[in-house]
Amino acid sequence: MGRRILFLGPPGGGKGTQAKLLTKALGIPHISSGEMLREAIASETELGRKASEFMAVGDLVPDDLVVAMVKERLCRDDALCGYILDGFPRNVDQAEALANAMGSDGIETTIVLHVDEDQTVERLLRRADLEGRTDDNEATIRHRLEVFRQETEPLIAYYGDNVRRVDGVGSIEGIFCRVVSELAS
Ligand code: ADP
Repeated sequence: MGRRILFLGPPGGGKGTQAKLLTKALGIPHISSGEMLREAIASETELGRKASEFMAVGDLVPDDLVVAMVKERLCRDDALCGYILDGFPRNVDQAEALANAMGSDGIETTIVLHVDEDQTVERLLRRADLEGRTDDNEATIRHRLEVFRQETEPLIAYYGDNVRRVDGVGSIEGIFCRVVSELAS
């Protein structure tokens, strides 16, 4: 088992961007629950149909659906040598489900990207123009930030000693350097 890394941070915090760079550097898969859900919606699967109403308003998709989806993904061969999780777990119940499923192969390092709220809103509104994601509008963005504070931020304490804090403001390359040096230390 290689490295097992979790990216944690607010919506618009740059988790996906950094996770994609790291997946290239380490050669282990990037597993993004949000991307998997958007793919399920695009291919009109049963999961996609169930998830879309929650995502459209910025609520979390029910735990049982997301946990089953990610557990299945983590069982594939390419995740045997490690993985980079992005967007999952998103609350303590999901973290416990993951810990039960993975045993000693659970998350080893948690990178928390720090970005203040005004910056994340600005980034998400810009992304809305570029990518056209339907959940990137101001009301939904504010709600997703609230969900992050209530549901996801407690995971920083949950993962305790394995948490590394990284300043998520600056150039993409600069932030990536900080991520890599945290992982090396
Ligand atoms: P962001 O972090 O910018 O909000 P994501 O792609 O991670 O973007 O998530 C988009 C949406 O997908 C969330 O608002 C939520 O509805 C759903 N989602 C993603 N991951 C999870 C998860 N682990 N549990 C529940 N819902 C999730």
